[in-house]
Amino acid sequence: MNIIQKKSPNFWIGRKGYRPEGVVIHIMDGTLIGTDAWFANPTSQVSAHYGIGKNGEVHQYVQETDAAWHAGRVDTPLWKLIKSNVNPNLYTVGIEHEGKPNDVWADAMKQSSVALIREICQRWQIPIDRNHVVGHFEVFSKKPNCPASNKKILDELVALAGQQTPPPTPNPSVEEGVRKIEEGLAMIKQIIN
Ligand SMILES: [Zn+2]
Repeated sequence: MNIIQKKSPNFWIGRKGYRPEGVVIHIMDGTLIGTDAWFANPTSQVSAHYGIGKNGEVHQYVQETDAAWHAGRVDTPLWKLIKSNVNPNLYTVGIEHEGKPNDVWADAMKQSSVALIREICQRWQIPIDRNHVVGHFEVFSKKPNCPASNKKILDELVALAGQQTPPPTPNPSVEEGVRKIEEGLAMIKQIIN
């Protein structure tokens, strides 16, 4: 995966003994270029590990071994695995997406997001499910439309990211079925000829 580095000054070095245990999905509510500038600005005091454009371009602002500032506020969280009295930035990886909460996600952006979620989860041995891949709104209820008004996008990302790992193992019964169909076709050909 091609990742363009766009370093942000807004992060903590290291994770104070924690490691990534979840991925938090966000919407920029703006453009990739605007987000690049906002995260590069030390006065904004915000960042994420990654930002994905509508064209599928992936920007990295903060290294995964460091804590980006994307989900530091907790308010009536719905996330089952949230830790009490620990800043979520210390144990999550944050991914921003270009656009507005009501947008339909472009295929290219969705595909990059799926590939990135899969890579992050494999790297840190995070299960690819809705308990580990969450929307910002599930951490901070005062952002009800981050990453989207329609929450189905989260289910879709998780389903697609989970689908492609691990590689499918050959199923003997399917192979047997294919062999029988081929035999049947050969018999039909003989009859026709
Ligand atoms: Zn957010």
